[in-house]
Amino acid sequence: MASETVLLTGSAGFIGFHVARRLLAEGRRVVGVDNVNAYYDPRLKEARLAALQPHNAFSFEKLDLADRDGTARLFDEVKPGTVIHLAAQAGVRYSLTNPHAYIDANLVAFLNVLEGCRHAGVGHLAYASSSSVYGANGKTPFSTSDPVDHPISLYAATKKANELMAHTYSHLYRLPTTGLRFFTVYGPWGRPDMAMWIFTKAILAGQPIQLFNHGRMRRDFTYIDDIVEGVVRVAERPPQPDPAWSNLNPDPAISNAPYRVYNIGNHRPEELLHLVDVLEAALGKKAIRELAPMQPGDVAETCADVDALARDVGFAPATPIEVGVERFVAWYRDYHGV
Ligand code: NAD
Repeated sequence: MASETVLLTGSAGFIGFHVARRLLAEGRRVVGVDNVNAYYDPRLKEARLAALQPHNAFSFEKLDLADRDGTARLFDEVKPGTVIHLAAQAGVRYSLTNPHAYIDANLVAFLNVLEGCRHAGVGHLAYASSSSVYGANGKTPFSTSDPVDHPISLYAATKKANELMAHTYSHLYRLPTTGLRFFTVYGPWGRPDMAMWIFTKAILAGQPIQLFNHGRMRRDFTYIDDIVEGVVRVAERPPQPDPAWSNLNPDPAISNAPYRVYNIGNHRPEELLHLVDVLEAALGKKAIRELAPMQPGDVAETCADVDALARDVGFAPATPIEVGVERFVAWYRDYHGV
């Protein structure tokens, strides 16, 4: 990956922005692409892009990846060596009311990216999956060897579908692919639709916060810098194709596709009630807590088994929730001037 161009989709998004900054700091050439949609305040996306623009090695293309011809043209022009695909319609609850957005952004666009990678002979496609594929698994920590056949939101179904589609392209065309199942990422420049932002905003405004599953919900909150470290390390190490493989008469003994899926999380789930305690400490202000029942599509607990990522790329998330929340709050205050 060192000398080639990295095509980074979702570069105006939360994780994509941070991955872009890291790659640029390492001296990589990055072409960012994003449609800067209005799922949440596009001004935040524009602000992230403005922070990236001063880098000479960064260029940006505003494009909807569901546009088949536009995406094909982009791959033709950029000829990326590595693709990090983070663009998607995120959010579990939004998928209950806006199902079509998920088909366009997560399935049609993903197919266009796969086709682009195939035709451009991309060396590695690393793409975002999600912990939501585990559904109401019940058993934690979640392991990539667990069956994940029962998604309980359309968002989760599209992320599982991405993994299936990636496997097909890895198998048929020997495209090296790695899926990353992210677990509740948080930190500066984070997402306004996620709990940490919503709680922070409400606490500062003296408004009540709703704690689903009566605050007993547990999430494997993972700090953005730890995520970026994992993404970059994974992207640098594509799964290796087996040279003896033939797609005309695949021998199951040697037809292992260059395909992998990893969990990328913290392996330390926190109860929402504890998150609120930590936020109160960082903000110096008490929350007004409203306990509410579970929401459809949500799961009670997430926790990542990250042994495979630790073994393969030395992944070792290091940021305690108290430190990560403090950094988020400092950024939030600065960004909003509050
Ligand atoms: P984000 O919404 O901040 O970023 C996604 C970006 O993709 C946005 O800027 C959006 O404008 C762009 N986008 C959406 N549809 C597009 C399209 N059709 N064409 C071009 N751009 C498009 O989300 P994020 O938190 O940065 O998430 C990045 C990836 O990680 C997503 O795939 C998401 O599903 C996945 N993920 C995130 C989390 C998390 O906790 N943040 C957890 C699990 C999975």
